[in-house]
Amino acid sequence: ALARSSGKNMREYSTGESGSSSQQNVHEFKAETKKLLNIVAHSLYSQREVFVRELISNASDALEKLRYLQATNSDAVVSGEHDTEKLKIEINVDKENKKITIHDYGIGMTKNELVENLGTIAKSGSKAYIEEQLKQRADGGGDSKDETVSNIVGQFGVGFYSGFMVGDSMEVISKSSKANNATHEDNKAYLWKSEGLGTYTLEEVDSDIIGTKITINIKDDAKEFLDEYRIKEIVKKYSNFVGFPITVNGEQV
Ligand code: ADP
Ligand code: MG
Repeated sequence: ALARSSGKNMREYSTGESGSSSQQNVHEFKAETKKLLNIVAHSLYSQREVFVRELISNASDALEKLRYLQATNSDAVVSGEHDTEKLKIEINVDKENKKITIHDYGIGMTKNELVENLGTIAKSGSKAYIEEQLKQRADGGGDSKDETVSNIVGQFGVGFYSGFMVGDSMEVISKSSKANNATHEDNKAYLWKSEGLGTYTLEEVDSDIIGTKITINIKDDAKEFLDEYRIKEIVKKYSNFVGFPITVNGEQV
């Protein structure tokens, strides 16, 4: 399931802009996204470790997309920046600062892609499935809440938002491989930040590195995940199908 491709997903497009906001860079999640985020963040205590699988899976997808681009379009690559040595995933566990970072040197996201991909949750198929499960539960005929959510995770993956099961906020710095083209309007890196509630912010930042770095600020009740050995174990458990090297605090897993 880890290597599943995300290339053909049916993600709905939404700009998510909150037009009336005085702060230009504050965006709102779509309503279904809010609802699902809430479920994901609060219901899945027994399976929280899957956030590692989900974020590695995304990093791996991003590296595969970049590798494909490199093979098919030489313009897409800055020479030297993306030799095969850079096709890797670096995880860092920072116990002192209570954060975990997952850094890939993959295809990255433009500003629009950040809005489109991280402002909306779940493929249309999983959304329909989740709604059905929730309806059944409300009708009294369905699974318990935990089982419902674990089905969602098992069958579809909760994706990026699974980080909010263990984090009270997440930050994403991303720079698209399209930014290699100096004339491209997205020749910039962006910082996406959210507490996983109603909104997220987006701002331009300085970064030369193509790819995506995700920081999870770990919640007090999820401190177990600040143990580097625990993270290594989880990575080993879920990373058999990942075709790129993964390091945890500098050590290859
Ligand atoms: P899925 O992987 O099933 O599409 P996710 O919620 O895991 O759903 O991710 C949503 C989308 O965000 C991905 O399809 C991808 O377009 C984008 N994305 C997430 N993580 C990364 C990443 N590390 N690099 C590039 N794009 C990413
Ligand atoms: Mg995913």
